[in-house]
Amino acid sequence: MKVISNYINGQLIAPQSGQYIDVYDPSVGEVYAKLSDSDNRDVGQAVQAAKKAFPVWSGMTTEKRSAILLKIAQGIEANFEKLALAESIDNGKPLKLAQEVDIPRAASNFHFFATGLIHFASESHSMEEGAINYTLRTPIGVVGCISPWNLPLYLFTWKIAPALAAGNCVVAKPSEITPMTAFLLSEICIEAGLPAGVLNIVHGYGNKVGQAIAEHPQITAISFTGGTVTGAHIAKIAAPMFKKLSLELGGKNPAIIFADCNYEKMLDTVMRSSFANQGQICLCGSRIFVERPLYEKFKLDFVQRTAQLKVGDPLLENSNLGAIVSEPHMNKVLSYIDLAKQEGGTILTGGKRVKLEERCKNGWFLEPTVIEGLSYDCRTNQEEIFGPVVTIMPFDTEEEVLMYANSTQYGLASSVWTENLSRAHRIAAELKTGIIWTNCWLLRDLRTPFGGMKNSGVGREGGWEAMRFFTEAKNVCIKY
Ligand code: NDP
Repeated sequence: MKVISNYINGQLIAPQSGQYIDVYDPSVGEVYAKLSDSDNRDVGQAVQAAKKAFPVWSGMTTEKRSAILLKIAQGIEANFEKLALAESIDNGKPLKLAQEVDIPRAASNFHFFATGLIHFASESHSMEEGAINYTLRTPIGVVGCISPWNLPLYLFTWKIAPALAAGNCVVAKPSEITPMTAFLLSEICIEAGLPAGVLNIVHGYGNKVGQAIAEHPQITAISFTGGTVTGAHIAKIAAPMFKKLSLELGGKNPAIIFADCNYEKMLDTVMRSSFANQGQICLCGSRIFVERPLYEKFKLDFVQRTAQLKVGDPLLENSNLGAIVSEPHMNKVLSYIDLAKQEGGTILTGGKRVKLEERCKNGWFLEPTVIEGLSYDCRTNQEEIFGPVVTIMPFDTEEEVLMYANSTQYGLASSVWTENLSRAHRIAAELKTGIIWTNCWLLRDLRTPFGGMKNSGVGREGGWEAMRFFTEAKNVCIKY
C-alpha cells in the first residue's frame, strides 16, 4: 500500500507520531493508501526548515527563482497522466475531468506565477512638495497554505505558486481526504531542485495540522480555501496575532436565465455549471432562476438531459459523473435531498444513491438531482450542499431575481444568461458576488481578481492580487 510521507526540509519523512490515516478511493469505497497523521511537532519542524531557507530563497534573483518554478511546472506536465489518474482515484472525479481541467490548471498556476514574478513591479508617487514615494514589496517570510478536497492539486498550487513566486517559504496542508497529488508534487519539487525547506507539505487532519499552522506565531500569513465555518475558526485564531489572512470560502451561487438568452449555449453550459465534478466546485450554480416565459421549456429539456447523464466508474471515458468524495459527504448531500422534500420540494429527477456493479459496487455515487417547488429562502436554497443537487424556480422581473440571488449569506459567483447588453451590465452591477460570468461559466483568466463577498471570504486571489497578498508593502518617502 502506498505510504504518503511529509515533505519537510527537502526530504520525504515519516510523521513524528508514527501514526497513519486511511485514505479511501471513493469509487470503490476502500482504503488504498496510508497518510502521515502529523501534528504540531511536524508543523514546528516545517516552520524551522522554512525559516532557515528564507534568506536563500528570498535573496535569489527573480530569474533564478522563476527558472526553478518553471521546472516544477514542467515536472507537472511530464507527470501529467500519473497525476490525472491519482487525482481521479483519490477524489472520485472522472479521469477525463482531471485530464482536461485539474492537472493542466495546476501546471498553468506554476507557469503563470513563475513568469509573473519577473514582471511584478511596485508603485511610485511623486509629490509637488519635491518628494517621491516608492513602494517596496518584500516577501513576508513563512506563510501557511491550507486547501480543500474538491480540486486538490488545482487549488493547492493556486496558493503555493504565488506564495513561492513572491519569495516566501511555505508550510502547506492539503486536505487529508485527497492528499495524493500534493505528495506527488513534493517528489516533483525535489526533482526540480527546489532548495530544501522552501516548500514543506505537512499531511494530516485539519484540527491538528491545520490548527497548528493557524496557531504558529512564526507563520504570519495564511491563505485558506475551504468551508465558511472552518474559515471563521481560523480567523478567530489568527486575528489576535494580526496575521494576514486570505479566505476563500463557501458559495451558493445563482444561475440567472433570461428568456432572451442563447438557449442552446445556455443549456450546455448550465449542465456543466450544475454537475461538473459532481457539483463539488465552489463555483457551481446550485440555484437556477429562469424567466417565466422560458421556465417550462427549460424544465423539460434540463430534466431530460440531467436524467441522461451517466454516473459511472470515474476511470471510464463515458462517465459524466464520478463518485462523491467520501461516505460522510455523500450522506450529507442525501440529508439535504430529504430536507428539500420536507420543505415541500418536488424531485424532478435523481435524488437517490447509485449502486454500480463490479469494481465500483461499494463506491459512493449519487444521481444528479433537480428539485422544484421551493421558496427562495428555505434552508435548501440558503445552505451550501456541495453536491450534484440543484433547484430551479421561475421569476418575473429583474428586481425579483436580484432579490432571490442576493438573499443568501454567500457571495462567491453568479452566472447570467441574456443577449440584452444593457441588462447584462445592470444585473452585474447589482449582484453581490465577487465573480459574475455573463453567457459563460468558469471561463478563467488567471490575472483577474478571484474571491467572494459576504461569508464567501475575505480578500482576492489571482494575478497581482495574490502577489500583493504574499508581500508586505513598505512606503519610502524621499524629499529632494
Ligand atoms: P473544510 O473547511 O472542511 O477544509 C478545508 C481545509 O481546512 C482542509 O485541508 C481541512 O483539513 C482544513 N481544516 C479543517 N479544520 C481545520 C482547522 N481547525 N484549522 C485549520 N485547518 C482546518 O472544507 P472542505 O475540505 O470540506 O472543502 C469544501 C468547502 O470548500 C466548501 O465549502 C467549498 O465551497 C469551499 N471551497 C471554496 C472555494 C473558493 O475558492 N471560495 C474553492 C473550493 C472549495 P481536513 O481535510 O483534514 O479536515
